[in-house]
Parts: sequence; C-alpha cells; structure tokens
Amino acid sequence: MKILVFGGDKRQYYTAEYLALCGNDVTISGFDTELDIPKCLKVCRGCTAIGFDAVIFGIPSFDVGGKIRCPLSSEEYYLGSIIREASPCRVFCAMASSFEKALMREYGIDYTEYHTREKLCMMNAIPTAEGALRIFFENSVQTVYDSNFCVLGYGRIGKILSSRLFALGGKVTVGARSERSLAEAECNGYSAVSLYSGEPDISDYDCIFNTIPSEIIRNDASIMKCNSLFIELASYPGGLSEKAKKAFGDRYIHAPALPGRFTPKSAGIIIGNCISELLAK
Ligand code: NAP
Repeated sequence: MKILVFGGDKRQYYTAEYLALCGNDVTISGFDTELDIPKCLKVCRGCTAIGFDAVIFGIPSFDVGGKIRCPLSSEEYYLGSIIREASPCRVFCAMASSFEKALMREYGIDYTEYHTREKLCMMNAIPTAEGALRIFFENSVQTVYDSNFCVLGYGRIGKILSSRLFALGGKVTVGARSERSLAEAECNGYSAVSLYSGEPDISDYDCIFNTIPSEIIRNDASIMKCNSLFIELASYPGGLSEKAKKAFGDRYIHAPALPGRFTPKSAGIIIGNCISELLAK
C-alpha cells in the first residue's frame, strides 16, 4: 500500500517506520529536518495525497481552519490543497473539527478518526503512566517506595498507573465514583475512597495524580494543610478549580501529552499498529 504520513510530532517518524516495516511503501512529509527520519522512508516536501492509498495525520491533526499541524516544520500546509483530487485515498486523522470533516466529505474522502479507538487509548495508557512516573521522579525528593499516592479516576490510565506505583512499593489510594471501580481497586490491594458523595480529603498524600477530566476538587482548605504534589494528567478542564490550582501553587504540575513528549517511539508504534489494523479492515 502507498501511504503518506503527513505532519505531526516525532511519533509520526515511528508510526511511518512501523508501517514501512509492515511492507508498505511509506513517504513522510511536513518536517523540516531529515536528520532523525528513519532510512526506510521516502521524504517529500510539499507532497499532495494524489496517488496514495492512505494519508495519516498526527494527533491532533489540525490547527484552526484546516491548517495541518506540523510542529516540526516552518512551512504551512493546508488540508484542502493536500486532499484535492486525491479521492479514493483514505485519511486517518485525529480531533478534526466540523470544518475539516466537511472539507473531506466535499472532496469525497473516506476519513477515520483514529485517536478514539479503544485499543489505542488502552495501549496509550502505558506510556502515559510511565510519563507520569517520570514527572514524579523529576519533581519529588522521595522514592515511590513508601510514599503515599492518591490516584483520582480508575479508568485506563488510573488502573495502569496504580499498578506501577504499587509494584514499586508505593501506598496507593484510588478515588473513584463507581462501586465497581472502588471494589476493583480494593481487590488489587489499594485503599479506595468514594467520590460519589463529594470532594475527597487530599491532605495526607505525598502526591496526587488526577485522571478525571472534571472539576472534582474545588475547596482550597485541605490543600492549604497538605504538602503534596498534584500532577494533572486529565484533559481540560482537569480536576481542580482555579481556586484549588492557586492553592497548590508550584506544587501543581500540568502534564499533558506525555507519550509524545517522553516516549515518541513507543507511542508512534502504538499508533502504527492501530492504523495497520484499520487499513486491514
Ligand atoms: P478513562 O478510561 O475514560 O478514565 C476516566 C476516569 O475518570 C473514569 O474512571 C471515570 O469514571 C472518571 N470520571 C470521569 N468523570 C468523573 C466525575 N465527574 N467524577 C468522578 N470520576 C469521573 O480515560 P483515560 O484513558 O484513563 O484518560 C484519562 C484522562 O487523561 C483523559 O482526560 C484523557 O484525555 C487524558 N490523557 C492524558 C494524557 C497525558 O499525557 N497526560 C494521555 C492520554 C490521555 P467512571 O468509570 O465512573 O466513568
């Protein structure tokens, strides 16, 4: 299959390399430097999608108005000029706006948003949890062993992160709202705190990791008493009110996009594997 990998961050090098190693003919575009680009890839500046079976954009794929997100290029590229007359090429993208979706439909392009695929989100929890540990190591004077952790949310990231902290000897408390999550956390040997009936007491932890994309801590009173780090992993709006954020001060650490930041190779391979499965469908 002829595949064009366009823009995105360093993860895309490894996504492209993975797809090439699977036997595809892969071209990469939307990068200024060719230094780190794996040798098995063709490089093309200003390529269009004509003649390709599939185009893969990064996560997220676009800035406003159909501008392709190319943080490693000084050039500007636009979706419309890449996909014009390229049908029946398939497009794999992430977080496209209604404008970009309408544009792809107008040009008769069959597009798939891949960032919400369950397997990708699940596998991505591994580099995210490892990145979260790295943020803790960089900002703490304590070992994981014997430290008190609170993990808010017991979804994909919450589960993997709790297991890694526990395996290193950390004392883990999980904050969750469902009875099932609370029971599962206890079954795995952690303490569990219900978020069902209101705000948790967070005064006794060395570090709190939040994976809940919803304001669950508004009160700054318990924050004033504690000395813990707060590592925000969740997407906007995150778990803290503005007042709570201020109360944490420089102990509040916003930690978005960890897979791409710390482990682009692993994260890129996870994406490549997801695209490969979608292409086979
Ligand atoms: P997930 O599997 O959906 O888990 C989210 C958890 O939050 C679930 O346990 C859910 O509880 C809980 N939750 C949601 N709203 C809640 C509320 N109002 N009160 C209490 N609990 C609530 O998601 P995930 O894959 O673990 O991802 C977690 C967050 O991290 C997302 O915002 C995601 O975008 C972000 N993320 C960050 C990075 C990074 O590098 N920092 C990387 C990937 C993803 P229920 O099970 O009861 O619904």
